[in-house]
Amino acid sequence: MSIVENIKLITSKLPDTVKLVAVSKTKPNEDIMSAYNVGQRIFGENKVQDLTKKFEELPKDIEWHFIGHLQSNKVKYIAPFISMIHAVDSLKLLKTIGKEAAKNDRTIDYMLQLHIAQEDTKFGLSESELYEMIDSEQFKAVKNVNLRGLMAMASNTDNKNQVKEEFELIKNIFDKIKAKHFPDKDDFNELSIGMSSDFELAVECGSTMVRIGSTIFGARNY
Ligand SMILES: *Cc1c(COP(=O)(O)O)cnc(C)c1O
Repeated sequence: MSIVENIKLITSKLPDTVKLVAVSKTKPNEDIMSAYNVGQRIFGENKVQDLTKKFEELPKDIEWHFIGHLQSNKVKYIAPFISMIHAVDSLKLLKTIGKEAAKNDRTIDYMLQLHIAQEDTKFGLSESELYEMIDSEQFKAVKNVNLRGLMAMASNTDNKNQVKEEFELIKNIFDKIKAKHFPDKDDFNELSIGMSSDFELAVECGSTMVRIGSTIFGARNY
């Protein structure tokens, strides 16, 4: 199937309340433009160098989302234009984002990445680290950033029950944090869960943002 057909099929499966982040990492500009030309505007990348190049070359009404592990020393390259940083996993990184956002006279939207998978290879905060961070005065003092919600990756497994349990866990933690810390903050409302293999399950569990790459653009050659 073509990129256009893939996008249409996925979109038809998503409720209107769920946003599609088309993960275009490693893919050429022409593939991105195929999706753009049928109305897709949110694209996700996980390498700073690739992202800045694509930002320069492609239409300026694209909303770029940074979806992978971000190094503090590279924040400055994306701070002028990034729409959303999905995977903030340390106070150090958050402080750098705030500093670079201020230099650009902006406020940058972000999510905190929670580690829910039963694998040690994935980045993210543990549940207790997450609470500790949100409770800290240092966290509250960071300016020019706006916390929009939580992000996570489920275990890479065929066991649907396990993936479902992990998604339910993050939804639960999201609801708890919302009730305790941000009951009146209407824009603390995003849950970035679900990729090609598990997005339908993620939507059932409350996802508001799915990050889909290979099902749209085909397998990646690294
Ligand atoms: C690559 C990537 C995706 C998309 O993965 P697919 O399986 O190709 O849909 C989603 N989220 C993150 C963080 C990624 O790095």
